[in-house]
Amino acid sequence: MSLHRKHDSGRKASDAIYASSDLSLSVPKHKIPRDESSPRTAYALIHDELLLDGNSRQNLATFCTTWMEPEALTLMNECIDKNMIDKDEYPQTAEIEARCVHILADLWNSPAGSNTIGCSTTGSSEAAMLGGLAAKWRWRARMRAQGKSIDKPNLVCGPVQVCWHKFGQYFDVEVREVPVEGDRLLMGPEQAIARCDENTIMVVPTLGVTTCCQYEPVQAIAQALDNFEKSAGLDIPIHVDAASGGFLAPFCQPEIVWDFRLPRVKSINTSGHKFGLAPLGVGWVVWRDHADLPEELIFHVNYLGGDMPTFALNFSRPAGQIVCQYYNFLRLGFEGYKKIQNACYHTAQHLAAELDKMGPFRVIHDGRGGLPAVCWTLTEGAGHGFTLYDVSDRLRARGWQVPAYSMPAKREDLVVQRILVRHGVSRDLGDLLLEDIRRSIAILEKHPVSHPLTENEAGGYNHN
Ligand SMILES: *Cc1c(COP(=O)(O)O)cnc(C)c1O
Repeated sequence: MSLHRKHDSGRKASDAIYASSDLSLSVPKHKIPRDESSPRTAYALIHDELLLDGNSRQNLATFCTTWMEPEALTLMNECIDKNMIDKDEYPQTAEIEARCVHILADLWNSPAGSNTIGCSTTGSSEAAMLGGLAAKWRWRARMRAQGKSIDKPNLVCGPVQVCWHKFGQYFDVEVREVPVEGDRLLMGPEQAIARCDENTIMVVPTLGVTTCCQYEPVQAIAQALDNFEKSAGLDIPIHVDAASGGFLAPFCQPEIVWDFRLPRVKSINTSGHKFGLAPLGVGWVVWRDHADLPEELIFHVNYLGGDMPTFALNFSRPAGQIVCQYYNFLRLGFEGYKKIQNACYHTAQHLAAELDKMGPFRVIHDGRGGLPAVCWTLTEGAGHGFTLYDVSDRLRARGWQVPAYSMPAKREDLVVQRILVRHGVSRDLGDLLLEDIRRSIAILEKHPVSHPLTENEAGGYNHN
């Protein structure tokens, strides 16, 4: 092909887009192009490149929203110019954010008359940082008042999402993570207490553990900490990581006591963009009482007009996600959320039952009790001639992303595969997937793999 420069070639507005000279060249990848492109061309180039991202609806690894109502898309568009931080310029957006905090506090049984306080964040990760910082500051004040050292804070948790390792690393807090052991894939009360001391700023149970999809027993842990306070004289607060469970348990498992009904629970985070059904980019953190959020962490700025208290890692932030969170609350109501989440549980349970029947799999989480998800491993003993990484790889050929991964420390030998059932993963879509899993194992059984794929070769999945 002859080399030619774009401006030589006399582009015309009427050119068929893929015949235009702009699209006959490959675009620069690491340098800003010298010349402008037409919006139509630039759009086509980027749109086409994004085709390779795959189809988010078939991504069963993610916990995040991948289906939205058209009205939510309209609201997102209408909010594209709204900056969440600018509460003076956009007072109604600020009001909507405050309403969401109150709605969540109420769903989490914040005691009547309590002075609940909270805010939106970009997701559970930022919310975890804020909850963790508040706990660290409260602990420091307590230790200083007793004339004790504040050099070695720690937090106690089970198999946590990576955000808690980040929190520990970024803010200098030792993370005492209870290793999983045998069939115990969670932190129990005994293991938590065994790691607590006067430097423990908080215990962090997870409502919906990323790796096994089960709920950690918050109430039993709170009870054990009550007893520990009586015997050791240490009053250790709980922060619940309810990234997923915070939008599930209130609707589907109201009998599980995990929230502000437990006086020891001082703060809770959740992801609006997971089972909150909001578009990507919103999380929430709520404190039981104003007193649980140290005043020194709140900054007051006046340069946007008015006095604006802020506690956040970010400053400017889009408002659409928060507005859509409120849209979901209004649109669905309690019964609507319950109906959607229950449908997910039923689909998960159906998938679990069918996977169990296939033969080579042992189901570890069947969509009962924890998240609407299924988690399984290969049956022990029998030489299968393939790994779950191979199954995962075959499913990718049909566009499905079904992650295979190993469990955390002490059970790295246990490799599992997991499906998250979210709003938009219908029973029928589930059945299509089951067909593809059956086909995959039939082929793998007929053509055993001589060199099974390893975790790295199968392509890393993050557990978001
Ligand atoms: C997803 C998740 C997080 C991180 O949340 P983001 O909203 O993705 O920042 C933290 N903890 C748990 C248990 C999660 O499932």
